[in-house]
Amino acid sequence: MSVPGASTSLRRDEAERRAALLDVTGYELELDLATDEATFPSRTTITFTSAGGDTFVDVKPLELRGATLNGTELDPATLHAGRLPLPTEAGENVLVVDAVMGFRTDGEGLHHHTDPADGRRYVYGMSFMDAAPSVFACFDQPDLKAPYTLTVRAPRDWTVTANAPGTEAEPGLWRFERSAPLATYFVTVVAGPYHHVRDEHDGIRLGLSCRRSIAPHLDADAEELLTVTRQCFDEFHRLFGIRYPFGDYHQAFVPEFNAGAMENPGCVTFRDPLVFTSRVTRGARIQRAVTVAHEMAHQWFGNLVTPRWWDDLWLNESFAEYMGNRVAADVTEYGDTWVHNAHRRRQWGLVADQRPSTHPVAGNGAEDAAGALQDFDGISYSKGSSVLKQLAAVVGDDVFVAGAVDHFTRHRFGNATMNDLLGSWERAGAGDLTGFVDGWLRAPGVDELRLDRAAGTLRRVPPAAHPAERTHAVRVASAAPGDATWRVDEVVLAGEGTPYDVGPDAAVVVDAYEDSWSWSAPDAATLAALPDLLPRTTDPMLRAGIWNALRSGVHAGAVEPAAALAVVAAGLPSERDDDGVSVVTAWALGRLRAVVADPEDLETQVRAAAEVVVRDAEPGSTVQLAGFGAVVATTEDEALLRSWLVGTDLPPGVELDEALRWKVLVRLAVRGATDADELDAALAAAPSAVARTEHSRARASLPTAAAKEWAWARFTGEARVANYEVEAAGLGLWQRGQEHLTEPYVERYLTGLPAAAEVFSGWLLGDVAEAFFPLTARRPEVLERVRRLAADPDLPGAVRRRVDDMADELARRIG
Ligand SMILES: [Zn+2]
Repeated sequence: MSVPGASTSLRRDEAERRAALLDVTGYELELDLATDEATFPSRTTITFTSAGGDTFVDVKPLELRGATLNGTELDPATLHAGRLPLPTEAGENVLVVDAVMGFRTDGEGLHHHTDPADGRRYVYGMSFMDAAPSVFACFDQPDLKAPYTLTVRAPRDWTVTANAPGTEAEPGLWRFERSAPLATYFVTVVAGPYHHVRDEHDGIRLGLSCRRSIAPHLDADAEELLTVTRQCFDEFHRLFGIRYPFGDYHQAFVPEFNAGAMENPGCVTFRDPLVFTSRVTRGARIQRAVTVAHEMAHQWFGNLVTPRWWDDLWLNESFAEYMGNRVAADVTEYGDTWVHNAHRRRQWGLVADQRPSTHPVAGNGAEDAAGALQDFDGISYSKGSSVLKQLAAVVGDDVFVAGAVDHFTRHRFGNATMNDLLGSWERAGAGDLTGFVDGWLRAPGVDELRLDRAAGTLRRVPPAAHPAERTHAVRVASAAPGDATWRVDEVVLAGEGTPYDVGPDAAVVVDAYEDSWSWSAPDAATLAALPDLLPRTTDPMLRAGIWNALRSGVHAGAVEPAAALAVVAAGLPSERDDDGVSVVTAWALGRLRAVVADPEDLETQVRAAAEVVVRDAEPGSTVQLAGFGAVVATTEDEALLRSWLVGTDLPPGVELDEALRWKVLVRLAVRGATDADELDAALAAAPSAVARTEHSRARASLPTAAAKEWAWARFTGEARVANYEVEAAGLGLWQRGQEHLTEPYVERYLTGLPAAAEVFSGWLLGDVAEAFFPLTARRPEVLERVRRLAADPDLPGAVRRRVDDMADELARRIG
């Protein structure tokens, strides 16, 4: 179905025609954020030259007050589906659009948030993909870049930060310098009574900001964040020899942000749970440092040189993901970043690359912007990063970096395509990259690397649906039974297979160090040996490789769940990487529990292993923290949970903080050992943004019909709450053991999703489709229904894609 008046996603051919017609000289934006809490006046003046002829400007207002083109009034009634027709003249044109826009609460456009902690209001802009026209009128495509001059009126106790340096010219009126040329998708404004931390490094003014209610937590970590920022600037300047080109570098931590962060030039926005208000693991700090480095990499790759069309956005992300990992590992205190990557990111990409919806890293041929957003997944990030790391190894790092520099130099402040980048690499001495590009960047799917022990061969098994020629250069780890030391062999796998001879009992982990984009599962002999070997294996990267092999094996149905559980039970107690503890326990309690014969037994075994981690860890260490999180999530001792909730009987070194309090409350809720009144009172006693999200998760988890109705009202939009709360309600709703309560919601999801698709949009819509998906309803008839739903042409593509992926997940869990 189409929704009358709904906006239309820009098609590639339309973008090409408009780019051929227009050359945008500049934008002047005037935003008034001081009128009310629901709407804001937005006045845009665009100067551009045209070859002459009809085109359109993108604008999605609540009310179009008026528009003039070269002084002539345009009829507001001609605005349709987010487009206002423009009969341009050959030569210079001036377009003025006066509109009233709506603040949003879904993390896109100008997001408006009222902090539950103190009632203060905050605003930030997220223009990414196609949200810019809900903030200002624009030619919303990545290759019509132009400088912006911004004026913002705001309440007098607010500060306003944007892409270019600005000052408060008079009370409540902020004027900004003319920016460097920007694509529409990274124009932002961060406005509110934000708390600021300022610094300077190497001539670049640095800023950090967050909501005032979490200011002490930002202050506590400001030196760590600024140190990472300084180190990364130095490294990017050393590598590229091209100065950061956008003036100040402000990093704003903003509420209810959908992604991890967004690379807006000069004013990067981060999700503000990255301002840690409770104790976190080292893995969480590594993730944050990598995110800082990732967004900085985008200042060159994406911002200085921008993709011509969305189909090359993936290479953007692949590059930033690779450079983010690499630079964080090389120059920050987090030298073990690649171990973190192995635990946290690799399976994300491997799973995505094995779905029926898999797609190439690059050149996915997205015909419109919305279609491109669907393919924004683990393939773009995790696989892309792995493939670029492989490319650097193949062509040599000097050539890899020189090609990137050539690309930045040739297309400075402009746009380019993947072929332009390949040309730069070839000029830098990479040779002919056709084979590499065809196998790794243009072909979807991931090879399995399989040990044929009897034949003494390592085989490359390409995915049946997407065969391609690929060469894997990997390290293979093997250990004989009873031997504490692993032997590591470098092996090149091409064609059908490569000789690899080991004894009948040796454990073998193929690609143990993430050298190549591949998956492999431990074979029977390896599974038999791992419970003995893992406790004596101390290399954190090898351990991560073993856990990945186990997860890959279960995902592919190549490892028996019982055998996987035996490895977890034996190997988890010796895990010393907090990411390893968090990720393996979460995987075991989610994915593995869904397929084992006795879920209660699994919980018992995981809890026992996590208790050993807590017992053996240094008090106060982050490994202990990670282990204790798994204990809370599995304990059946409600009296103990009650003790923990008031801070007593906790292991030495574990302290009750907000995160732990809500973990305990969620566990009590799942078990029906608390009620809505107690949860509401806990929120009212300390009403932070974190608490509001966790309260949503806990209330939805209660085993009562009323709780499930409460959660469902967030799916239908009957209860309108912000994005984080909607998602938490969906994730809380489906609980194992509550099937008698959730059963009606299987049908309600199947029939109600089309209506939900009219309530939500953009990023949140996809998240809602996934969070409320009935993944615990592991029955063939449900699978058949969700597959039909995924094929429903009336559903938006983004929703169908999510349902399709979840159907694949459900099928794997049914077995
Ligand atoms: Zn990115």
